[in-house]
Amino acid sequence: MEVEPDEDRSQPEINDLAMRVRFSLKEGRIWLDSERVALMHVSTLSALRRELIECLGMDEARGLLSRMGYNSGSRDAVLARKLRPHHSTRDAFLVGPQLRAIQGTAALEPVHLDLDPATGRFSGEFTWHDSFEVDAHIAAYGLSNSPACWMHLGYICGYATGFMGRTITFREVECRAMGSACCRVIGRPIGQWNASEDDLRALQPDNGTRLLGARAEASRRQASPVCTILQATTEEADLVGTSVGFRSVCHMVEKVAQTEATVLLLGETGVGKEMFARMLHRRSRRTGKPFIAVNCAAIPEGLIESELFGVEKGSYTGASGSRPGRFERAAGGTLFLDEVGTLTMTAQIKLLRAIQQKEIERIGDTTIRHVDVRIVGATNADLEMAVDSGQFRADLLYRLNVFPIRIPPLRERRDDIPLLVEHFLQKFAAIHGKAVSGFTESAIGALYEYDYPGNIRELENLIERAVILVENGGMIDVAHLFSSGDRLSSLMMRLVNGELSQGATAELAPQPPGSQALPSPPSLLDNLLKNHPAPLQQVETELMQEAVARCKGNLSKAARLLGVTRPQLAYRLRKRQPV
Ligand code: ZN
Repeated sequence: MEVEPDEDRSQPEINDLAMRVRFSLKEGRIWLDSERVALMHVSTLSALRRELIECLGMDEARGLLSRMGYNSGSRDAVLARKLRPHHSTRDAFLVGPQLRAIQGTAALEPVHLDLDPATGRFSGEFTWHDSFEVDAHIAAYGLSNSPACWMHLGYICGYATGFMGRTITFREVECRAMGSACCRVIGRPIGQWNASEDDLRALQPDNGTRLLGARAEASRRQASPVCTILQATTEEADLVGTSVGFRSVCHMVEKVAQTEATVLLLGETGVGKEMFARMLHRRSRRTGKPFIAVNCAAIPEGLIESELFGVEKGSYTGASGSRPGRFERAAGGTLFLDEVGTLTMTAQIKLLRAIQQKEIERIGDTTIRHVDVRIVGATNADLEMAVDSGQFRADLLYRLNVFPIRIPPLRERRDDIPLLVEHFLQKFAAIHGKAVSGFTESAIGALYEYDYPGNIRELENLIERAVILVENGGMIDVAHLFSSGDRLSSLMMRLVNGELSQGATAELAPQPPGSQALPSPPSLLDNLLKNHPAPLQQVETELMQEAVARCKGNLSKAARLLGVTRPQLAYRLRKRQPV
């Protein structure tokens, strides 16, 4: 485009705005001045854009994204005057376009800008070169015959309108999505445009809601799985996550819940298999009926059959009365068999019959009872290997394995760690009546670094222990989280070699304030109240000794209390003997 002689493309320094972005890592917040913002992957936004187009059609998607941009522009308009109160009106207005650059959406260059909020005079022209919307549009649909920068256009409209206090609309007169070299928008007060209703159509929320409403019925079916999964995070208290791994498990559970298929949940200990089984039950047609959970490994071998199938009075087990087993108690509902791989051979045969013929017999009884129970099995063992070694029946495995769902370990869904941490922190702070102001930087680093062999249950335990140990109103540090010296030292080493230099090795006995938090709760509190730092080793020794004393010398009990294994405790006690 030819350059007009009077145009002014200059922009004020951007640093005053860049400094308004603050990372509050402990709380997992990013602030743009007083507005909380979030970093989001452009690829995620692009995927959302495409999904909206496919669900709602081009016009409705455009309206939705324009309004999203418009809303964002309005927010920034509030900031603009506040951030540059003593600048010229022009520089104050450029806060918006410059914030756009800071937000990473595009660098808006002013080509021409003439404005006077007092009289309502406005005339503006901006260009940008690398809108992600264009890239997303071209990638999905190729070159377009209409402009594609919906969010940007919405933004600049919302921003200018907010800034001027009257409706200013922009039109994208050139767009890279249409083959132009760059995108160009021109803005004027609404009254100065011909056929301005088109400009407003996409921006008016009422209109948009109506458009959406018309489509909502048609799209409800497609939209419902997503909605219900969002609900899952509140309904199924501890089922929290947004990672791809988590969401795909939710989708699988959602899909199979409506059927009568037998489900086998696979995954390491602590990944939340029972939680997903409960979710499956709740989403199934059996939701009003009982959900019975049995951990097959927790019931002694000799009792498992009577537990599952019930006993009849006078049977050889010496039962004095008849009682139903878990199968009968789950009538009409769901029976969750955790650690199903540990069932005895006889129990396996009976389970197979219950699944195949929907029949059971109580022990000591010859009456055949019909049972309508849906089986959800779970295992952390390799059942195929168990079949190979003759410990598990192949025919039972086929029956159970109709719809296997693998739940990934936490280390494969690290994206969910921040959410889970926040969730458990709130949960345990409420349970234990503690105010916790957050996590230190090294604690956050440690939580991200750690591999969680015990998965979500371990993370939950870590946070609960930390909430108990931390002083009221204080911040959770690494030492509150990892009271096992081994984990602590390996973690701290990694943190030191990595970027978080705040930590130190356990061998060096770090004494940063707040990390002297290892003794058992009463002495910990005492220590904290006195606020005298104690070397970590000494604190650890005290903690171990106190635990052993409390357990009257029973090392296994003391080890459990401390969250370590007995050999670990014994080893550490031996090592500390001369101290
Ligand atoms: Zn464009």
